[in-house]
Formats: sequence, structure tokens, C-alpha cells
Amino acid sequence: MKKWFKRSLGLVCLTPLLLSQQASAEGRLTVYCTVQNALCEKVTTLFGEKYNVKTEFVHGGTETIFGKIKAEKDNPQADFWYGGTIEPHFQAGELGLLEAYRSPKQAEILPQFKSLMEQKGEFTSVAYMLVLGFGVNTQKLAQLGLPTPKTWEDLLKPEYKGEIQLPDPRASGTTYTIMATLIQLLGEEKAFDYLKKLNENVSQYVKSNLVTANLSRGESAVSVGFVHAYATEKEKGAPVETVIPEGKTGYALGGASIIKGARNLDNAKLFMDFVLSKEVQEIPWREFGLYQIPTNANAQASPKSVDPKTLQLLDFDFVKFGSKDEGKRLINKWLAEIKLAK
Ligand code: PLP
Repeated sequence: MKKWFKRSLGLVCLTPLLLSQQASAEGRLTVYCTVQNALCEKVTTLFGEKYNVKTEFVHGGTETIFGKIKAEKDNPQADFWYGGTIEPHFQAGELGLLEAYRSPKQAEILPQFKSLMEQKGEFTSVAYMLVLGFGVNTQKLAQLGLPTPKTWEDLLKPEYKGEIQLPDPRASGTTYTIMATLIQLLGEEKAFDYLKKLNENVSQYVKSNLVTANLSRGESAVSVGFVHAYATEKEKGAPVETVIPEGKTGYALGGASIIKGARNLDNAKLFMDFVLSKEVQEIPWREFGLYQIPTNANAQASPKSVDPKTLQLLDFDFVKFGSKDEGKRLINKWLAEIKLAK
């Protein structure tokens, strides 16, 4: 995980040099990438080999990449944004930061997401699905003599004080999914009361990949996040288990969008078709032990992924939470009422 982290930072540091060299070249593609680093590398390399395109990627959390795209509005430095929770993609579309493209592969999306794509799929497509839950370090819980939390309410118990870590919504899209889920479960006022109380038990807000790494190392006992990541940690030998909290389950969709002003527009369109294809959507679990759920109806999901059909999923309002005003308002509210109030 440490190596992974260094590598993504390294790529970010090299970016200005690499990008200035490739800006006007042909046969290239630069991807801002919010899936796991190894997968960013594999998918961009495979695409490059298939189409004889020189590819480069820069890895970052959803909000970090969204911030870069906003900052680079007048001089875009990348062609494509692959992965990350979909609401900031929709927000970017509303802000005029994305290029319209409806891939023919959009037609292969799972039926339950068809109407969302009809409404919001002009600039962004759905590349995968993630389920929200808790990760627990069973060894750490046993050491502390604590039970496994089963409900959202359980996380507020004083015995978990200092033992919970959450992603930071300024870098990561995961916290926005957590906020949106709680608002849809409880209403906004109660959701923010809940987040304030939960804050009492949180030791740190850090990038989502670090939250998971810290859980595996036993630096925290509990985290909230997307459960595919806990399955991977468990498979790698960490004493980590997944809990899907009782009641309706929150989830996220992974977005894929072409950045407005893309210098390599034709390649970006090809890359969209590529990441929406059945073959590419099966790569994470077939080759890497990564368990995000494919959203191409022809793709097979891993038997190790949570099966959404076995869950009572929230009727998630991606249109409301994907609005730019709502996104800005809720993150600013979280900062003012929770982070800065800590
Ligand atoms: N996409 C994938 C495949 C992920 O694994 C995650 C986080 O676990 C995300 C998106 C969201 O990442 P972040 O919260 O860092 O924006």
C-alpha cells in the first residue's frame, strides 16, 4: 500500500513535465484516474497497446481530480477522467467542464441505471458500482474488547471514541456518498446531527486509500467506506471484515467522462467505449483481486463482490446530489459544522 501511495504521488509530481511534452502530440491520451493505481496502469497500458496510443495517467481521489479539472478549465491538461464517485462528474458536467459523448456502449448498462443515463448521461457514463459499508479490524476490536458495530447508530457509542477513521471529503468522493446516504436515510438535519456525534469518535479524516491502509494495519478499529476495498485487504491477509449496516444500503457509481477541450478527443471517445466494455470491466477482479461491481450488463461480476441483488439498496437520488450547488453546499456545510468545529 505504501509503494502504491508513493507511486501515485510520484506521478502527480512528474505531471507538469509529462503533460507539457505531450500537449500537442498526436496519438496520445492523458487520463485522470480515480480507480486503484494498478488498474489505472493496466487499463491505460492495454488501451495504448490496442490502439497504438501513447498513454499517461495521473492518479488522485475524486475531489482532488475534480479540483484539478476546475483549476485547469482554460487550459485542460488531461483528456479523460476515469473513475471516482459519479456526483462530482455530474457537477463537472453542469459547470461546463466536460465534453458531450454518448458512447454506443452506454446501451449495455444494467437496466436499473438506464433512466439515470437517459437523464444525465450526456457528459458522463457509469463504469462500475461500489457498495457502502463499514470495515472492521477484528484483531484490533478483540484487543480493545469491543463488539463489531452492526448499525450506523452503533458507531456513535462512546466505546469507539478515537477508533474510527473516515475519508476527507476535500480529497475523496467517499465522504460525499456517506453524507448523501445519511441524508437520504435520516433527513438533512438529523444526518448532520449524526455526523457531529460521529465526529466525536473519529480520530482522523484522511484520503480514502489511507483510511483503508490504516484499518488493515490496526491504526483504527473501524472505518466507513466502499466494501470492495475491505474484501481486497482481507484477501491480502489483513484481519479485516466487512459490515453492511442494517437498513437500506448506500452505494456509489463510478463515473467516466471526457474533459472539455481534450486535445486527444478521438482517443478519449475510444477510451470511453473501452472502459464501458464487458472485457475491461472484468479486469479488476479477474486480474487484480479488486472487487468493484461491473455495470455493463454483459460483464460477469466476481463471486467475491457483494451482490447488490441481495441488498436493500437506497433509491439513491444521483440527480439531486449530482447538482453542483448541492455538492458545494454540503461539502462547505461539513467543513463549517464538523471539520472546522472539531
Ligand atoms: N473508485 C474506486 C474503484 C474506489 O476504490 C474508490 C475508493 O475506495 C473510489 C472510487 C472513491 O475514491 P475517493 O473516495 O478517494 O474519491
